[in-house]
Amino acid sequence: MPERKRVLITGAAGFLGSHLCDRFIKEGFHVIGMDNLITGSLSNIEHLFKLEQFEFYHHDVSKFVFVPGELHYILHFASPASPIDYLKIPIQTLKVGSLGTHNLLGLARVKKARMLIASTSEVYGDPNVHPQNEDYWGNVNPIGPRGVYDEAKRFQEAITMAYHTYHDLETRIVRIFNTYGPRMRLDDGRALPAFMGQALRGQDITVFGDGSQTRSFCYVDDLVEGIYRLLFSDYVNPVNIGNPDEITIKEFAEEIIALTGTSQKIIYHPLPTDDPKQRRPDITRAQQILGWKPKVSRKEGLKITYDYFKNLPEFK
Ligand code: UDP
Repeated sequence: MPERKRVLITGAAGFLGSHLCDRFIKEGFHVIGMDNLITGSLSNIEHLFKLEQFEFYHHDVSKFVFVPGELHYILHFASPASPIDYLKIPIQTLKVGSLGTHNLLGLARVKKARMLIASTSEVYGDPNVHPQNEDYWGNVNPIGPRGVYDEAKRFQEAITMAYHTYHDLETRIVRIFNTYGPRMRLDDGRALPAFMGQALRGQDITVFGDGSQTRSFCYVDDLVEGIYRLLFSDYVNPVNIGNPDEITIKEFAEEIIALTGTSQKIIYHPLPTDDPKQRRPDITRAQQILGWKPKVSRKEGLKITYDYFKNLPEFK
């Protein structure tokens, strides 16, 4: 049997990282997970520890990173990724996107590995162009509460392109739009876990602002498929991966109220600073280059996700 290709996944114990670990194991790779467990949880990858094709390093990628042996691919998914986390740990958020990316690019060079970075729709900030395509440069407030994430991710794209241009490193950049599914953290402050957690605890549903701001939610399996295709494509510029099915946050809250059958009502809280008014990916590039588009409807995806939350020990 040929040797398994070896992939390093940072942020392996997080929501997206853990789903990527599962996918690469399923595809026959040797997966090396890395996480400092600040926002990730070992429960997301506990099922992998019994496999000999999986190993795990408890390490902070903002510090020098070393992995013995060959590495063919690096997927950098370590980062806090919700507004509540950026407020709690802003410096770590900046460091993992900047210093962490630099360390991993250095590792990729030494190992001659291909590196894919997790960028984000946050690079578009509060967008003046709708829907957002990859040629839009964005509207970001560098010193606002989201600035630590947005600017780290913009720097991350810049340094990754520089390593590609000046060091001939093989690189890929995915811009991830709002994604949901099992293993999201209930307390991460994002709309979906907040609403589902509130429904399960019998609390009112907290919509921020008047709820007219929009988002477009992608189910995690669709996202992972897009990332997988991008890694094995030869395309170097950023690619949006997300679901263009746009909805206002008020309607989203109503969908979750209907799904969960909660008798709680919506209550309105002030809109957080710099909360983007609208967001929807233009996925033309992903469709043309990767032959990719999302398959899971919000109805299906929300049901799977709610079943996951409902079965957490806290609610049994
Ligand atoms: N939101 C809300 N109530 C909550 C949590 C979030 O109305 O309890 C809003 C938030 O202000 C934003 C939208 O839902 O307009 C999506 O928030 P999320 O944190 O999920 O994603 P992001 O703002 O990073 O796109």
